[in-house]
Order: sequence, then structure tokens, then C-alpha cells
Amino acid sequence: QIYTSTIPSPPLPRTTVFNYLFPASSAKAATDNYPKPNLNKVSYIDGITGQTLTREQTETKAKQLAVGLKKRGVKTGEVGCIFGMNSLDWVVACFGLQALGVVVSPANYAYTPSELLHQLSDSTSSLAFVQPALLPVLLEALKLDKSYSISPERIFLLCPKGEKPKDLQNKFESIEELLEESLSKDELNNVVQKYTDGLEKDTAYLCYSSGTTGRGKGVETSHHNVTSQIQAVNLVYEPQTGDDVILGILPFSHIYGLTVVLQQPLTYNGTIVVLPRFEEAPVLNAIQKYKITWALVVPPILIALLNSPNVKETTLSSLRGLQSGAAPLSSDLIQAFESRFPHIRITQGYGLTETTPVSHVMTLEEGQAHRGCIGRIAPTYQARLVDYESGKDCEKGERGELWLRGPSVMKGYWRNEEATKGVFAPGGWFMTGDVAVIDDQGYFSIVDRVKELVKYKGFQVPPAELEALLLTHPDVADVGVIGIWSKEQATELPRAYIVPRGGLSSISEKSKNELSTKIQKWVEGKVSNHKRLRGGVILIEAIPKSPSGKILRKDLRVLAKKEEEQD
Ligand code: AMP
Repeated sequence: QIYTSTIPSPPLPRTTVFNYLFPASSAKAATDNYPKPNLNKVSYIDGITGQTLTREQTETKAKQLAVGLKKRGVKTGEVGCIFGMNSLDWVVACFGLQALGVVVSPANYAYTPSELLHQLSDSTSSLAFVQPALLPVLLEALKLDKSYSISPERIFLLCPKGEKPKDLQNKFESIEELLEESLSKDELNNVVQKYTDGLEKDTAYLCYSSGTTGRGKGVETSHHNVTSQIQAVNLVYEPQTGDDVILGILPFSHIYGLTVVLQQPLTYNGTIVVLPRFEEAPVLNAIQKYKITWALVVPPILIALLNSPNVKETTLSSLRGLQSGAAPLSSDLIQAFESRFPHIRITQGYGLTETTPVSHVMTLEEGQAHRGCIGRIAPTYQARLVDYESGKDCEKGERGELWLRGPSVMKGYWRNEEATKGVFAPGGWFMTGDVAVIDDQGYFSIVDRVKELVKYKGFQVPPAELEALLLTHPDVADVGVIGIWSKEQATELPRAYIVPRGGLSSISEKSKNELSTKIQKWVEGKVSNHKRLRGGVILIEAIPKSPSGKILRKDLRVLAKKEEEQD
């Protein structure tokens, strides 16, 4: 049983991301279902400084940057990492690289040096844009592996020339210094990678995702994946228009922020208010100052807004819609939010890095009628629900693993054939690792996960990575990591079950607590903030395992449930 959208597929352009988003620069641009680009419209506002970029300025700066990069020997087909919080410089770096045909690999700003190194070296990044405050993390990362490096001439600071820290004045160039400002229109246009037949299938982005198992892998998102996603989802969304002002809080390094927040609004002439991360005061200030109408969020942001004493109904009066994604959103939370702020409607979407991302979404009106659902299948995507054990398609109402197919499903994992094979079933179906049900009207709900992934506030926490780290602790004999649900925070919290070296019975109750706290603290110093063991460390006799030695996370989840009931 294959589920498809009742909305016919839109035209799917064959072009590159840059030529699609800035159609004036290419005769090949797709203009179907795409309002005429308004060149003078402010596309990006820095929500802190108030600085702006019109659409035309964004395009021009991107081309100026592409020329500057080319002059420094950067070539089409290389991979460039962007490591920083959301900013206007981030936007220019991204589009500059895209203009030149450099694959963009955006890294999470919370990364520790070793986490960053994994992405840099695995993606074969040969240049990097970095926020000055994060430069020490990048430099530390490069010290960790002698066999991989980026030369200082290829490390560029995401800040204006005048804001370069004093000690870095002569060591690294700022993005502003790369902009070639004295060129003619023709010279600027010539730097843009021209579309040639088949180029749409090339990789445009490498975002990192752990997928169903193991460590982070580069998800090869092609130009066609991105342009098809935007064409498709524009048909389902609330009719967003040039009057919409979008909250740009989700990290551009994650596919949700990268596609839906950074790029998509350009296609309907929207304005994006760019903010570095979720902090209450600047976010509330930006919502009021720029009269933000539409916010893309993750569930914990809804909780924060709902529970804050500083948020009055009038604070959010400009907001008409909130779209939540990246993690489960309960109908209770939607109801509580909508009754406190009756003028705001909430809708939900679902997707994965591997599906660029949104495969399910609904309008605000549908969101009201189908609270807690992730929506119907978006145009261009096909879905199946497959019984995990028998491999057969499920009947309506039965739970099954969600499989997806369509033009926005990734090419595969970067240089990792084995992992790619592991997530594609015959017929090109991508196996999401999420368990879903579909109702009579075609609305899907996510009810479980069969993959090992844990998500803290929308950020991925790969259990295998934490387990590998914990096994290096001298007091740990064995370990299994799962996520436990926190209703108060509307997120999963990573929890480790640990078998202490020497066995559980040898430890007194008091020492057990001390050891748990010690291990929890030890992990804090070694991983990025979202991977901390906020769900606790629990000592047990043995980790439940299958005969082949696979951790039975399902059993650990049952254990967690029992503990919760006892509390
Ligand atoms: P990522 O690749 O980081 O976007 O993570 C994708 C995963 O996030 C999915 O496989 C789901 O497990 C989870 N996810 C995304 N959106 C939702 C949603 N609306 N409800 C429940 N889980 C979601």
C-alpha cells in the first residue's frame, strides 16, 4: 500500500540551488509556482543588530564572495564547512559557496573539538568559515589529527573586517575581506556555476546525521533534493507570502533550519529575522520589534514561551502561526498553548535530514483539527508503513515503520556505501526508523522509534557515540544509552544504563549514587551540551542484549518505564 499526496506534484526544476533561489542569475531558473522575486525586499534581518540584507544584496554578496574564494584557489566540487551560530555572515557564506559550486557542510555550533573533527575530516572539508568565538574549537580540532588539516589561509572568520579580534588581525581573513566589490555585473555573473545537464543530481549539502545507527554520517543532499522539497512544501504550507516575517531561530546547520528557514522564504519573498540561538529576551524583543508572523520551532521552545512570566498575550500579538517539527509535539501542549494564546495556531511537520527534510506537513487549519498528528504525506513523496518483523505492508490503523521515497530523499551517506545500503530497501525506499500509524483521512502520527537515535530539544544524540565514550571510563564495564521522555521539557533526555566494573553487588547504595554522579559529570566535560546525560546514570547488573550482542534498547525503555512508575 503506497500513500501519496492528493495534491499533484509541482514542476520539479532541473537546476542548482543557487540558480533556483536567485533566478535572475540564470536563464534556466524555474519560475513555476514561484512569485516574481522582489529584489529590493529585505530578505534577512539580524535580529540583534538590526542590520539587513535585501534579496539583491544577498545575491551580490554571494557572488562577490565566490569570486574572492576562487581567487584564493577554491574550486567547484570542494567541500566547505560553516561552523557558527546563525548570522547574516552565515547566510552569505552559504550562498557564496553554493554560487561557486562548493558543497556546504554546516556544523553544529555546540560541537566539542573532537565532534567537529569527525565532521571536518569525514566530509573532507578543505576550507572553513568560523565564528570568531568558535575559532579555538576549530583550531583545537585540527590539532587532534595530524593526518588532516586545513591551512590558515583557508580559514575565514564570520565577522566584518572591523570586528576581527585584535590577536587575529593578521592571522585569518574575515568574510568581508573576501568580498570582491569592484566587479561588473558580468564579472559577478560569470563566477556562478553554470547549470549543465545532470548537475542537479550533484551534492549541494552535507549535513550530519547518525541515521538509524552509529555515529554522524554526511547526508548527501543534492540540488534536486532541495529544490523539489521547496517546490512541494510550498504547496501545502499556509499560503505564506511576502508579507510574512519568519523567526530565524532554528540552527542553519540542521536541515530544518537550512531548508525551511534559510532558503524556502526566498521563494515567496518572505523576510527572515536571524537570531543566533534561543534566548528568551532577544527572541521576544525580535518578535515585537519586527512583527514576526510565523515561527518555525521545536517543542521545547513552545514550552519556554508558554511557561515564561515575561510572555503576555500582547508580546506575541503579531504571530499568526507556529510550525513545530524535529521532535514529537503532544496534543496537550498544543491545546495548552492555543488556549493561552488564542490568536495563534500551531501546526506540525515531520521529516529527517535524509528527506531534506519535510515529508509530512499540514496547514494551520488542519493542525487544529488533527492535533498531535504530523500531517499528510507531502506532494512528491510516497510513503509505506511496513511491519518491522514480517516486512509486509500494514493494514490501515496498524503500526508500521515509515518508509519514504521521492525526489527529496537523499542520494546516500557520503562515502559510506555500507550505511547507505543499510537504510534503503529494494525499490529505493528509505527506511526512516520511525514507527507511524495512518488514520482514515490520511493523517499520520509517529508512535515509536525502532532506530537507536535520541533527540534532545531537536538535536541528535547518537547513543552509539555516548556508549563508545562511556566504555573508556575506568569504572564502566558495559553500557546502553536510551532517551527518556520529559513531559515538563517536551523533550527526550539521554540516559545511560551502566554495569559498573567489578559488578553491581560489590557497591553500597551510597557509592552507587556517588558513582552515577561522577560518571554524569565526567561525560559533561567531554561532549557538547545537548549530549549530556540529563536523564541520569543508572547502575544495573547487566545490559539486556540479543544473542548476537545487540543492545536491546526496547528492554531498557521498559526498565525506564517501570522506574518511572515506582517514583
Ligand atoms: P533529524 O534528521 O535530526 O531531523 O532527525 C529526524 C528524526 O527526528 C526523525 O526520524 C524522528 O525520529 C524525529 N522527528 C522529526 N520530526 C518529528 C515529529 N514531528 N514528531 C516526532 N518525531 C519527529
